[in-house]
Amino acid sequence: MLRVKDRDGSPLGGYWFTEPTTKARIQAWNLGKLFVLVHQHRVANKVPLGPNIAYEVEEQICGERPHLCWEQPAPGGGPAINLFQMGGDFVKAMWRWGRAGFATVSGEVFEERKNTCLACEWWRGYHDYGIGYCGQCGCAAGKVSVKQWLATEKCPKGKWKQ
Ligand code: SF4
Repeated sequence: MLRVKDRDGSPLGGYWFTEPTTKARIQAWNLGKLFVLVHQHRVANKVPLGPNIAYEVEEQICGERPHLCWEQPAPGGGPAINLFQMGGDFVKAMWRWGRAGFATVSGEVFEERKNTCLACEWWRGYHDYGIGYCGQCGCAAGKVSVKQWLATEKCPKGKWKQ
């Protein structure tokens, strides 16, 4: 899978994406902002959002400017998680949480978990904006997460301290 190497950087001329449906050229000075602009453009033009805007944008950037990218191996080589698994895992997480008396972690632990996810190679989505999911367990990890608040949940790769 081709990914942009310097995810927080800004190459000469910034990042560009050509929306295949409208042919609009969308530019931003950082990758996260470009993801958001493409998302907004699609919403405004009633273009389907697709399964993963981030992958789509990075694939196009890497096709046009391969020197900005590297081949990221699939972490662990495990199978990709699908929506059915994600739904099942979510129900199980809620069941575990209910059995434990709906216990939540402190704000500090939540922040530590969230930041670990945002820096993780399994993170999938809009890195700068925290909208996305864990590619390992499928949970919506990040700034909009529920899972990191649940005391009963664990990182499937053992990266959370608590
Ligand atoms: S839950 Fe664990 S494996 Fe998944 S994104 Fe967060 S730190 Fe990475």
